Amino acid sequence: ITYTMVKAVAVLTGSEGVKGTIFFTQEGDGPTTVTGSVTGLKEGLHGFHVHALGDTTNGCMSTGPHFNPAGHVHGAPEDEIRHAGDLGNVTAGADGVANINVTDCH
Ligand SMILES: [Zn+2]
Repeated sequence: ITYTMVKAVAVLTGSEGVKGTIFFTQEGDGPTTVTGSVTGLKEGLHGFHVHALGDTTNGCMSTGPHFNPAGHVHGAPEDEIRHAGDLGNVTAGADGVANINVTDCH
């Protein structure tokens, strides 16, 4: 049996100094691990979703809906039925940094 390691990276540049780098890793048919950090956020919870399109020319408006290859409804990360891109919230500390470490089977 040969397992293939698949990796992707998303470099984020938002408005008002928000920046981040997110890494996606999957080995074989196993879960996807999402790691990285986002800086420049306001302290508190921030929704964290993978959108269908990588087009940020018009901000969030051009990124399309949440990544949803299975045609499900929107949900929380712990829901069995949800968009694959629904990764819940990340929490930024007083320093404006949110560290992300999610393992996801969807
Ligand atoms: Zn969704």
